[in-house]
Amino acid sequence: VTTFKDKKIALFGLGGSGLATAEALAAGGTIVTAWDDNPDSVAKAAEKGIGTADLRTVDWSAFAAFVLSPGVPLTHPKPHWTVDLAHAAGVEIIGDVELFVRERRAHAPDCPFIAITGTNGKSTTTALIAHILKSAGRDTQLGGNIGTAVLTLDPPKADRFYVVECSSYQIDLAPTINASAGILLNLTPDHLDRHGTMQHYSDVKERLVAGAGTAVIGDDDSYCSLIADRVEKAGVKVMRISRRHAVAEGLYADASKIMRAHDGVVAEVADLDGIQTLRGSHNAQNAAAAIAACLAVGLGESEIRAGLGSFPGLKHRMQPVARKAGVTFVNDSKATNADAAAPALSSYDRIYWIAGGLPKEGGISTLKPLYGRIAKAYLIGEAAPQFAATLGTDVSYEISDTLDRAVSHAAADAEREGVPGAVVMLSPACASFDQFKNFEVRGDRFVDLVRDIGGIEMLV
Ligand code: ADP
Repeated sequence: VTTFKDKKIALFGLGGSGLATAEALAAGGTIVTAWDDNPDSVAKAAEKGIGTADLRTVDWSAFAAFVLSPGVPLTHPKPHWTVDLAHAAGVEIIGDVELFVRERRAHAPDCPFIAITGTNGKSTTTALIAHILKSAGRDTQLGGNIGTAVLTLDPPKADRFYVVECSSYQIDLAPTINASAGILLNLTPDHLDRHGTMQHYSDVKERLVAGAGTAVIGDDDSYCSLIADRVEKAGVKVMRISRRHAVAEGLYADASKIMRAHDGVVAEVADLDGIQTLRGSHNAQNAAAAIAACLAVGLGESEIRAGLGSFPGLKHRMQPVARKAGVTFVNDSKATNADAAAPALSSYDRIYWIAGGLPKEGGISTLKPLYGRIAKAYLIGEAAPQFAATLGTDVSYEISDTLDRAVSHAAADAEREGVPGAVVMLSPACASFDQFKNFEVRGDRFVDLVRDIGGIEMLV
C-alpha cells in the first residue's frame, strides 16, 4: 500500500486485520506507529518489524492519518481514547477498506469492485458472487469482513475483480468508498450497541450504496426501500431486489425463479429449484443481489447461471453435508439464536431438528409457526429443559443432552421413517459455549459424527 508512502500513520488495534494492515502499510514505505491495549499483540507486531509506541505519549500532529481497527468503538458506546486524541489533533480516522479504496483509485480506478453490506446474508452473498466470478474465469479477490483482510489481497489492476464484505464498522471508517456495484441487502435493528440508533446504523449503510456506480438495494424492508428512493433521486443507478414482489427495475423472486426487470422487459434469469445450497426465500434475496451485481460488472447471464448452479455454499450455514437413503444432513451451526434458525427451519418440510446449547434471551417461542415442519426435536446442552418446556405437546422431542446422541438418534429415526426429502439438521438456536469452543467447532463435530454413520455419502 503506497498511498501513504513516506508519511507517518498512527494505527490502533493489532488483531488479525489490524496487524495485516500495519504490515501492508510498512511494506509500502509508510512509517507506522502502532499500538494495542493487549501487550502480546504489540510484542507480536514489534517482532514483525512494525514501529510501536503508546499512542498516549506521541506527537499526533505528525500523523497524516489514523488507522483504526473496525472492532474498536468509533462512536458508541463512547469513542475509544485514541479517537478523542485523533479528533483533538485534527487527524482523519480511516480503516483498511478506505486504504484499499484509495489504493484502487490511485492505481486501477476502473477495476471492478463489488462491496456488500446488510444485516443478514452478507457472507453468503459475498461468497456466491466470488464463486460466480471465479467460475466465469475472472481474476477474483475475496475479502473484507468475511475473513481475509483486504490489504492482504493481490494489488488492484484493471482486469481484477474485488468482492469485499463490509460490516457497518468498516463502512463507518471508509468515508470515500466508491464500489462499482454496492449491495445493501436488508436492514433490521442489530448491532445498535455499536451505533446508538437505527438512524445512524442506516445512514452508515446508506453510504456504501450512495457512493456506488450501481446500487443494488433490497426492497423488502422499509429502511432499505427509503434508501433506494433517496439514492435514486440523487442520480445513482439503482437495481431493486425483492424476495416478495415484482420490481420495476431490478430482480425479484417468483417462486423458485429469479426474474429480471430491465427497461420495461421482464425475463427469467435463473431458476434456483434444485440448488441445495440456495434453498429458502432468504437465499433468493442473496442470489438476486449476487446476480444483479454480476450483471452490473459485465458478466453474461449464462455465465452467472453456471456459477449459481455449482455454488458449494458456506460452511455452517444451512450447508448440506451428507446424504443417506433420501435423507440430507444439514449443518446450520451458525444459527446461534432463534432468528437465525428461522430461515433454515422455513426451508425444509420434514426436519429432524437438533437444537440447544447455551440459550439466548427469548428462547425459541418465536419459532412456533414453524413447528409443523419439525418431525422431532433432539435437544442438547443447557437449553434442553427450557426448549422442551416451550415445545410442550406441540412437537415431539427427546432430551438427547449431547450432540453425539442427538445425531445418532435423529439419523436412526429419519432412516426408519423414510420420508423422502427429510433432513437431519443441526440448527441450534443457541450459542455453543456450554459444550464447544465456538460454533465452528460445533459444526465440525456434527460433520464428523455424520461421517461415522454407516453407508453415508458425504457431500463435503
Ligand atoms: P452475515 O454474513 O450477514 O452474518 P451469513 O451469510 O453468514 O450472514 O448468514 C448467516 C445466517 O443469516 C444464515 O444462516 C441465515 O440463517 C441468515 N440469512 C442469510 N441470508 C439472509 C437474508 N438475506 N435475510 C435474512 N436472513 C438471512
